[in-house]
Amino acid sequence: PNSHVGFDTITSQIERKLLKRGFQFNVICVGQTGLGKSTLINTIFASHLIDSKGRLAPDAPTRSTTEIQTVSHVIQEDKVRLRLNIVDTPGYGDQVNNDKCWDPIVKYIKDQYSAYLRKELSAQRERYIQDTRIHCCLFFIQPSGHALKPIDIVVLRKLCAVVNVVPVIAKSDSMTLEERQEFKQRIREEFAFHRLNMFPYDDGEYNDEEAGINNQIKSLIPFAVVGSEKNISVNGKIVRGRQNRWGVINVEDETHCDFVALRNFLTRTHLQDLIETTSHIHYESFRAQQLNALKE
Ligand code: GDP
Ligand code: MG
Repeated sequence: PNSHVGFDTITSQIERKLLKRGFQFNVICVGQTGLGKSTLINTIFASHLIDSKGRLAPDAPTRSTTEIQTVSHVIQEDKVRLRLNIVDTPGYGDQVNNDKCWDPIVKYIKDQYSAYLRKELSAQRERYIQDTRIHCCLFFIQPSGHALKPIDIVVLRKLCAVVNVVPVIAKSDSMTLEERQEFKQRIREEFAFHRLNMFPYDDGEYNDEEAGINNQIKSLIPFAVVGSEKNISVNGKIVRGRQNRWGVINVEDETHCDFVALRNFLTRTHLQDLIETTSHIHYESFRAQQLNALKE
């Protein structure tokens, strides 16, 4: 007899709905002027925006960033739709007086929590709240080979308190592979010395497999990235790259830089964890603060 009721399709219905609605994933780029933030954003999108004829999206003009602005695209892989919003910020730290130069960025991040909280508390709660909370802050480090700047440490401390911070070494094509390894190690030591608590967190509730993946990622962080606005032909294949006198740096070649590793980290392996920790750790502590302030 056929006693099949079909409960088992319920989960797949919910799953389908979630997939159809898609994810919203918000990243902010922070760092000094000229470190390649806008270029990297462009590179991340270009690597996804392959149009229907299979060509890479045309080069976008370079612009200098004077205000906080968001670039947004829907990217789809298999059945999963992801709205990726990347927030570009003007560089900080290039004024004579760098006092509070991080304020507009921290304010922007908190404003998103605030907007979310307002919607959550409003009487006619929307069934699905548009989520503009920042899930990941890419922090750009100058490829000096020496150490972090004092201003970087101050800004990092402010950022780590409100958002998941993921550091990247900017323009890493200016360093040899050996120099990059040494620099990464040095920076990781500085983070530890200054007790900068960055994503992925040690105290997270991870199973063995996840902990393994996290340790692997931690040995790569800070990601040594290279960005480019140009498409270059290599052996008849069009790639995003930087043409030098001695050859081409292909940003998507994993032996050339960590760009692909960063992209996989963001849009595949750690997407869900970045979204969850934002909600459970950073937003939750903002929310508790705000609600406590109301009670007083
Ligand atoms: P932003 O101020 O951080 O947004 O920096 P931009 O993206 O405007 O880049 C500043 C300059 O650095 C531009 O001339 C870029 O072409 C160049 N640039 C960007 N990314 C890289 C990179 O990965 N390597 C090198 N060598 N130059 C880069
Ligand atoms: Mg810029």
